Amino acid sequence: MKRRDFLGTAGGGALLAGGVLAGCQQTETANTTAPAARVNEVIHWKLVTTWPRNFPGLGTGANNLARLINEMSGGRLQVKVFGAGELVPPMEVFGAVMQGIAEMGHGAAYYWKGKTEVAQFFAAVPFGLTAQEMNAWLLYGGGMELWREVYAPFGVIPVMAGNSGVQMAGWFNREINSVEDLRGLKMRIPGLGGEVLSRAGGVPVQIAGGELFTALQTGAIDATEWVGPYNDLALGLHKAAKYYYYPGWHEPGTTLEALLNRDAFTALPEDLQHIVINACHVVNGDMLAEYTARNNAALKTLVEEHGVDLRRLPDKVLERLRELSNEVVAEIAGKDALSGKVYESFSRFREQVTAWDDISERAYLNVRGGS
Ligand code: CA
Repeated sequence: MKRRDFLGTAGGGALLAGGVLAGCQQTETANTTAPAARVNEVIHWKLVTTWPRNFPGLGTGANNLARLINEMSGGRLQVKVFGAGELVPPMEVFGAVMQGIAEMGHGAAYYWKGKTEVAQFFAAVPFGLTAQEMNAWLLYGGGMELWREVYAPFGVIPVMAGNSGVQMAGWFNREINSVEDLRGLKMRIPGLGGEVLSRAGGVPVQIAGGELFTALQTGAIDATEWVGPYNDLALGLHKAAKYYYYPGWHEPGTTLEALLNRDAFTALPEDLQHIVINACHVVNGDMLAEYTARNNAALKTLVEEHGVDLRRLPDKVLERLRELSNEVVAEIAGKDALSGKVYESFSRFREQVTAWDDISERAYLNVRGGS
């Protein structure tokens, strides 16, 4: 049973769901019969990402992951990173890992809603969990086992590997003073958030990050969300929009994922399996720390140097978006039994953690006071 702890964490509530590592018997045999041969073997892996190469935070996070695995394994497992489009197009990362074109991927689960809609719960849910709450649900609240179950039919193992923290609502060239102002709003906003906007009368548009600036500047769209100050400043979005709205109701703590081809992973010697999983967990925490540090520095630059008009979405607008979000999210629960199970686990955790947050984080931040 010890071997089943791999994908969990120390003390973890994240035991591996039965059967996910069906191929691990093979690894065990290889390990016990020829350990000496395996120790000197150098294994080469490809890591495909949904991000442009070296993109701040996201792409550099994938680079860190590869570097950590290389270093921790003493060069025995060498991971080479491919940016979006270098080996496969960004939206084919999951398929590439599934087919073994690459042994590993880095992306976000909501990109794979075409494979299974419930995957979106493991990246970001509108009015869902914050980064810390996502970590808690995944590692100690049963979320990780469900995530593995969702990806198991594809022969892919997910591991949490990054978090953006709370994102921004986005850049707008239209003032949002009421729910009415959302009507006809052409906005780049993917995933469940886009569906919510559509029900509020808006027009969600799918546009890749590299084309956002031009789309906003030419008026092809009225608004766009991207990530937060750090990434948004890098894209120069402040030069193309009048208002910068918060909070990011649609992405309150987006979890990024590493994808592992199950056959490739289970064929690794056991110590390398531990290294891969733990490197992902290191990057998971590191990226959130980086975003937290760099977002506040970038926000200062945006406001003080570029005179950005920072605005909070009105309560009435947020209330309406929350009602619609709950509707949209609950509908996924009805798709099939596993989706229902994920929804139930997620919703129960959100309710419980909110009661605790009310008297911990929220209570503390309120007494600490504003800036
Ligand atoms: Ca976003």
